[in-house]
Amino acid sequence: MPDCIFCEIVHKRMQSDIVYEDPEVVAFHDINPQASVHILVVPRLHIESVQEVTTDQVELMGKMILVAQQIAKKTNVDEGGFRLVINNGVNGGQTVSHLHLHLLGGRRMTWPPG
Ligand code: AMP
Ligand code: ZN
Repeated sequence: MPDCIFCEIVHKRMQSDIVYEDPEVVAFHDINPQASVHILVVPRLHIESVQEVTTDQVELMGKMILVAQQIAKKTNVDEGGFRLVINNGVNGGQTVSHLHLHLLGGRRMTWPPG
């Protein structure tokens, strides 16, 4: 997908700090971290948002959660706890139109979110 920064990262045309990759999923450090651990888990496939997920992508969505679980362990936030966030659309605060799961950890989160 042209002009998609996460597609650029996934295809290694743009530099990023990748912490995990497999044939379906890539994870990299957020450029503007909101916690000491802030990693984005993205499908290689360009899916714009949660709204565009189809039934044949259910397994891929589950895999993203398992990847986040592994990274939480690797970054030592699994025991203390962490937050997974998917922003969707304008009111959801989504700024990059390539579906991504935020993994946030290393500090106590508050609720409700801003
Ligand atoms: P969202 O607001 O949920 O769409 O999240 C987009 C996230 O992507 C933000 O947390 C940004 O800091 C992050 N981001 C934007 N550009 C880059 C980039 N080139 N590398 C890593 N993270 C990025
Ligand atoms: Zn994309």
